[in-house]
Amino acid sequence: MFSQKLSSSILCILDSRELSYEMASELCDLSTRYFGSIARGQAAPSINTLEKICIGFQRTPNDLLGIATEKDELAYRIAMRVIHYRRYSLFNGDYTTFPVCPRCENSMEREYQAFCDRCGQKLNWDAFRYAVLFPKAE
Ligand SMILES: [Zn+2]
Repeated sequence: MFSQKLSSSILCILDSRELSYEMASELCDLSTRYFGSIARGQAAPSINTLEKICIGFQRTPNDLLGIATEKDELAYRIAMRVIHYRRYSLFNGDYTTFPVCPRCENSMEREYQAFCDRCGQKLNWDAFRYAVLFPKAE
């Protein structure tokens, strides 16, 4: 039962983040073949493997094995506006800025990416030109 629930949680995450088995298995540090058999519910992963999947997708075991996942994934699929940036000083006294993910609050390397590469949140950049300095330090 857990492996079926894990399977549907994984498939839901892959769908909402538009990830292939290859990309997802890389995130989770697993072979594509093994990851695929877990995603299809054909393999029951060990606790250590479950931990890798949790880390790879930034989810708790409860997210992956519990019942709230589909609603949560839907929230990730609805684009959130990027409205903050962080400023980093460079050695020459100049500075550079990075956009801040509205969900996980991590700095993102690239502007105008469709999804946060840390948490998978879908992003909307319409208001980014009006973005303000993020109030909290990282
Ligand atoms: Zn994020």
